[in-house]
Amino acid sequence: MHFHPSPSQQSALEKTRPFALREIAPFAAQWDRDEHIPRRQIQKYADAGLFGMTIPEEYGGKGRSALDAVLIIEEVARHCGISGRLIVDHNFGAVMTILNFGTEEQKRRVLPEVCSGKSLMSIGMTEPEAGSALTELTTSAREEGDDFVLNGKKHWITGAGEREYTLVYARFNELPGPKGIGAILVHQEMAGFHYGGRIPSLGVRGVQEGILEFKEMRVPKKNLVVPPGSAFGHLMSAYNGQRVGASAVALGIAQGAFDFAKDYANERRQFGKRITDFQAIQFKLADMAIELDAARYLIYRAASHAKLGITDRYESSVAKVYASEMAVRVCSEAIQLCGAQGYSRDLPLERMYRDVRCFTLAGGSAEMQRLGIATSILGRSLPQK
Ligand SMILES: Cc1cc2nc3c(=O)[nH]c(=O)nc-3n(C[C@H](O)[C@H](O)[C@H](O)COP(=O)(O)OP(=O)(O)OC[C@H]3O[C@@H](n4cnc5c(N)ncnc54)[C@H](O)[C@@H]3O)c2cc1C
Repeated sequence: MHFHPSPSQQSALEKTRPFALREIAPFAAQWDRDEHIPRRQIQKYADAGLFGMTIPEEYGGKGRSALDAVLIIEEVARHCGISGRLIVDHNFGAVMTILNFGTEEQKRRVLPEVCSGKSLMSIGMTEPEAGSALTELTTSAREEGDDFVLNGKKHWITGAGEREYTLVYARFNELPGPKGIGAILVHQEMAGFHYGGRIPSLGVRGVQEGILEFKEMRVPKKNLVVPPGSAFGHLMSAYNGQRVGASAVALGIAQGAFDFAKDYANERRQFGKRITDFQAIQFKLADMAIELDAARYLIYRAASHAKLGITDRYESSVAKVYASEMAVRVCSEAIQLCGAQGYSRDLPLERMYRDVRCFTLAGGSAEMQRLGIATSILGRSLPQK
């Protein structure tokens, strides 16, 4: 058991810190106000080797471990949550699904494009009538000659309308239940691909969530990444790493809020003293630090046990529930420590508070993660119908 970064992790962090301070921190508030992060900024992350850290070098990546990636993501997210999310999406989630379950041809064609920033990738699971109950999804894929023909609607898709590829979860050839679900890679330039607009939301505004519609969209069979059959477990297991990455973003944002509030409280004077001279404030800081550390080690545990970027379901869900709920508490306390100033838009805390709120929902709600944890504890499936 190791509780310190390795020399190579330390050196990667030492490179990331000045990059984040120079290229990210000064602009995070602006991207939030603009509700947009420019593509040239996203390209900087790819150029700095932050995309495809978890992808083997033969596919254009850096061949680093999931834990290495998580450490970097946490560092970036201290300054900017959306930048952290962008890096998660191009190290875990869809790219991990392709790496683990895609064909050799798909890996050689698509992964280098993603690692270089030429193409960005979304994941399209959620539908208006299938959120937590994902196995009820109805987007259909019908086999016709050399193609699958897709019809359906997805919503809350991160990066919709801004990213070239989407890994779409669909029901193949009308097969019922989880066994009918597979995943196919679509490109935004395919005929029948429609961007249905943005969903305005509370936080993480620099990257948009939106609607995608597919109308008689022909997708070549060579883009089938996970065929239907017994594959639903594969599809979900590939997503565990995404949850750990998202947890690292939540942790990073909360750490950033804590650091800011601690410095502010150390300066702020009331009743003739620094407010950190009051025990009530000291205990608040201590409680926040305890929670941050607890989340950190749950996340590191899940990431360090990953195999080819796929983390254990129980450990991923434990980390995600704790980190996402902790981050909301810590960011709220950070605002409290800074008084009315903390609530103002002059400080970054209100943005951080809005940004962390998404993590108890995005990537599977805290309730569904608890259900997964209970399933592991009890050792049996827990049908919700
Ligand atoms: C910022 C953000 C980004 C997202 N990005 C993506 C993306 O890129 N791709 C994608 O496919 N999806 C994405 N999502 C969607 C996300 O995965 C879903 O919001 C999530 O799975 C929950 O589904 P729902 O919103 O339909 O809630 P619902 O399923 O309608 O649930 C509503 C509430 O009921 C609870 N609930 C439901 N069933 C049960 C049960 N059996 N027991 C106890 N409680 C239950 C839920 O936990 C939740 O609190 C994103 C969401 C957000 C907020």
